[in-house]
Amino acid sequence: MSTHEQFAEDLALYALDELTGAERQAFEEHLQTCAACRRELQAMRCDLGLLGLSSSGPQPPARSKQNLMRAIAAEPRGVSAPEAARVPGSATRSWWWSLVPAFAALGLLIFAVAVWRSNQGLKDQLAELHNRNQDAATQLERTNDELRLLTSPDAVHVSLNSQKTAKEPTGTAIFSPARKRMMLMASNLPAAPVGKAYELWVIPINGAPIAAGVFKPDEHGNAVMMDRPMPEGVVTKAFAITVEDEAGSDKPTSTPVLVGGVG
Ligand SMILES: [Zn+2]
Repeated sequence: MSTHEQFAEDLALYALDELTGAERQAFEEHLQTCAACRRELQAMRCDLGLLGLSSSGPQPPARSKQNLMRAIAAEPRGVSAPEAARVPGSATRSWWWSLVPAFAALGLLIFAVAVWRSNQGLKDQLAELHNRNQDAATQLERTNDELRLLTSPDAVHVSLNSQKTAKEPTGTAIFSPARKRMMLMASNLPAAPVGKAYELWVIPINGAPIAAGVFKPDEHGNAVMMDRPMPEGVVTKAFAITVEDEAGSDKPTSTPVLVGGVG
């Protein structure tokens, strides 16, 4: 059985690229399914990277890491203690072997500091994300309200115009180059002739107009096209609406009813 807790030690070894064989494979499998371990690993790698950069002395950290690994390797891990103690060449063990506990302690201290620091960082990030999330939720709720109004079947669009002029068709296109989405709202459009419909065109800075959807206004002359894909790889100069066959055309064949330039 593999649980999150049992991988705590493997996580540190893995971050140092010291986990091998079946243990490495088992840990990588667990990593696929455990977001907590992935976060911890990333934070640990980040901090290890910073520690590596900040150590300008004559390499004590590298040596202590190596010795820590040896010390850990020499620990009995699910194997009986005597077997683990049978190290090849144990008769000629170097004097520094006695320093292993000190190096191990130093290594653990480095880990403790790294873990503590990443913990602090994560807490800050979490608070920040929580705030942003609340802002986004509020914003989304407001947008949803607006969209519900715009798209509700009984919505009445009232244009306020000078009494002297007739109601002119108007349109608003909203698009996000980053999200590659757009929407269109139009009012006061005359009903399209039989067999015809309105077609929206995206007019790029370079190249021909790109068809962006066919629509018919309702009996009040209102039309909405929600959340449409924006053509990719072009910089949009303007939008235009023409009357075309209701099946849609691949290029404009009539004078635009509405045109709007971007910014
Ligand atoms: Zn885990």
